[in-house]
Amino acid sequence: MELTPSNTISFVRVLLPLALPREYIYKLPKELESDVVFGVRIEVPLKNKLYSAIVVELIDQIELEYKPRTVISIIDEKPVITAQQYTFWKWLAGYYCCTIGEVMNVALPSGLKLSSETKLISNSENQPDTSVLTDNEYLIYEALTIQKELSIGEIQKILNKKTVYPEIRGLMYHEFVYIKEDLVEKYKPKKDTYVQLVEYYKADRSRLSEAMDLAANSEKQTKMLIAFMQLGRAVEKVARKDLYDLSGGNKSILDALVKKKILETEELEVSRLQVVVHKGEKLLQPLSILQNASLNEIKGHWQQRDVVLLHGVTGSGKTQVYIELINETLKRGEQVLYLLPEIALTAQIVQRLVEVFGQKVQVYHSRMTNHERVELWNSVQTGQSIIIGARSSLFLPYGNLGLIIVDEEHDPSYKQQDPSPRYNARDASIYMGSLYGSKVLLGSATPSLESYLNTKLGKYGLVEMMERFGEVALPEIEIVDLKKERQAKTLESYFSKKMREEIDLSLLRGKQVLIFQNRRGYSPSLQCLLCGWIGECDQCDLSLTKHKFFGELRCHYCGYRTPLPKACPACGHDELKEVGYGTEKIEDVLKDLFPMAKVGRLDYDTARTRSSYENIIVEFQNKKIDILVGTQMITKGLDFDNIHVVGVLNADLLLYFPDFRASERAFQLLTQVAGRAGRRQERGKVIIQTSQPDHPVLVDTIEYNFYKFIAREAVEREKFRYPPFYRMIHITLKHKDPKVVHEAAMKYAEKIIVYLGSRVLGPAEPGISKLRGQYLRQIIVKLEKDHNVIRKAKKILLQTKSSIKEYKGWQGVRINLDVDPY
Ligand code: ADP
Ligand code: ZN
Ligand code: ZN
Repeated sequence: MELTPSNTISFVRVLLPLALPREYIYKLPKELESDVVFGVRIEVPLKNKLYSAIVVELIDQIELEYKPRTVISIIDEKPVITAQQYTFWKWLAGYYCCTIGEVMNVALPSGLKLSSETKLISNSENQPDTSVLTDNEYLIYEALTIQKELSIGEIQKILNKKTVYPEIRGLMYHEFVYIKEDLVEKYKPKKDTYVQLVEYYKADRSRLSEAMDLAANSEKQTKMLIAFMQLGRAVEKVARKDLYDLSGGNKSILDALVKKKILETEELEVSRLQVVVHKGEKLLQPLSILQNASLNEIKGHWQQRDVVLLHGVTGSGKTQVYIELINETLKRGEQVLYLLPEIALTAQIVQRLVEVFGQKVQVYHSRMTNHERVELWNSVQTGQSIIIGARSSLFLPYGNLGLIIVDEEHDPSYKQQDPSPRYNARDASIYMGSLYGSKVLLGSATPSLESYLNTKLGKYGLVEMMERFGEVALPEIEIVDLKKERQAKTLESYFSKKMREEIDLSLLRGKQVLIFQNRRGYSPSLQCLLCGWIGECDQCDLSLTKHKFFGELRCHYCGYRTPLPKACPACGHDELKEVGYGTEKIEDVLKDLFPMAKVGRLDYDTARTRSSYENIIVEFQNKKIDILVGTQMITKGLDFDNIHVVGVLNADLLLYFPDFRASERAFQLLTQVAGRAGRRQERGKVIIQTSQPDHPVLVDTIEYNFYKFIAREAVEREKFRYPPFYRMIHITLKHKDPKVVHEAAMKYAEKIIVYLGSRVLGPAEPGISKLRGQYLRQIIVKLEKDHNVIRKAKKILLQTKSSIKEYKGWQGVRINLDVDPY
């Protein structure tokens, strides 16, 4: 019996994966005291549910106004998060004005945040060996084979006890069960058969003459063996179908060679992109003089500051510089995080890294199974590796992070729009870097004004590579004036004479063409010629897009869809006009204009899944597609050597987008898409159609004059008090009743104006004033970059948010704060 309880832990402070304004404290029963450490999950009650929460503080004594509830069980033996992660989460919540529970919700893989409502289902693909299971685990497993799915609450009833997490963890570990939501998005990998030499010959290739002797009695076997040696010169494993193709052989011949113990076969999971299984043996390419100089400059800057911006034109070989830095980091035994704006679109970069680093490359993506995700989570704590991922890979528990690369740092996809936390992974990675003591490299051909300004202020180092690798010239950009084309009547189905000629020439020479049209679907709206009716979404303030293939009108925001009307729903008139054009229509037009060419399309509709995306890329790579039309998906990460012409059908859409970053986005998109042309050997050609040929952004784009562009942009932004000179926060209020949202927004603005004065703009109806049945109002706050002002303003905005909710009838008003909106 202990008489002095001063060293005992009586309470724990925990994090729950919910948008709660504060952290909760629970009482710890004596018998659990010795098992609890920072970062483990425990099971706790809240209202009438059970949750798994993370322990973030052990407390021996505390005065509380309320009676804390009691911890039910401890789930983990070892912590699932590190102290650094907790610090990162707190920073993120503070900076982006959200709760730490919301951060935890996106940060933890779902397998690590079970609640009593989480549903489990059995893994039907496995015929498992149940002998590894404990009695209780077996009971659950058995119940699941009968009942298909069980919630954790139901499992508690079956076992007649509250503490069921150890059993669930066991079942998940052995892959007997999945969390339901994971299975829905489970990614089915493609498998192929590969052929390799048996160990005896692999170990010593000079023994191959013995194999030739063994095969000598059959001409066909000899032929296949020779084919194998040709294909297997650079790689260890050869795809079976390639072997058949080259040797003209078939299964019975291969079987004979397997029987003679010369070759063996193996089923391997393959990316649809890749034919070869790499062991990471490809040697580092020697850097060019320019690349080498840049590499040294980067390292020089890192002596003084942690962040460097690498501004390198498209095709300058930034990736090669990254590879060199990754290699050096790994050699020091440190980890690398390689951030990409969208993981689905970057298979090519993954491929390039895997070629060099093999198994050390791990891709973190949303289609991983829960099991894989948890496994990676655990291995990152100790392992030495390269993680490639989109923004959520910032949340992995890195044990020894040496380098963070933010590729295409200008890309708006780094910003999470919804739900909260609305964080920007580029900016968050800079905080991460300082927290973990790692270096950060931002890379882009078109740096954001934010990052560029930081180099001018001396916060980041700047390194520039203004020439393409191999001295290939940047493509020549030509502007076509759509007004003149229309007058001269030389425009044919949206394509100018010049554009048609260039495409023709290119096709004649066996070269490929990219056409950029930043709108998907067939036509963005449908209008009745008689009464003026326009198809609109009931739930959103947006017109419905015609999709020909699906035979539907669709809302691109909420996903609402309805069959294409044959006649006007308002007046019955049967002539409906298509207004505008999207990628689907352009695909049709291209087939008409260039009947000999094979046309493909890359957009959200054709590349919904990773594999459909990869299939299109592979077809393009293998020249099965001559002309590829696409949305901004085609502007990212494509590195092909055979694209000669890039066409932009209408730049006006980009230039007049109602957003303060419209010019910057236009310059970036046009420069990036142009950069796909002529990347190797021959100079490419870009044609931009516009009715504003003298628009300064276009002039800068043609001249590749980033400096002129960014200088003018900076002046404009500063003049109108926009970022990066001022810090902006958007407050969006939503409610299904337009009157309620209007009044709540007026009140909100009125309250904050008292403190913030002219820094507050609005409330106003945003450009799209209704989404998913909710009416919107927006208030904009522009703050000078003064830490004190910003800190106080955030506090006021949050306080006002909760005070608005206390008004009668306004509880249902949703208020979102968006710091640094994009
Ligand atoms: P960026 O990322 O700057 O657009 P990449 O890294 O994709 O440029 O390089 C453009 C092309 O040049 C790629 O096809 C790449 O393989 C090639 N390349 C770049 N650096 C080298 C090098 N040092 N040796 C060989 N090829 C290189
Ligand atoms: Zn009508
Ligand atoms: Zn809608």
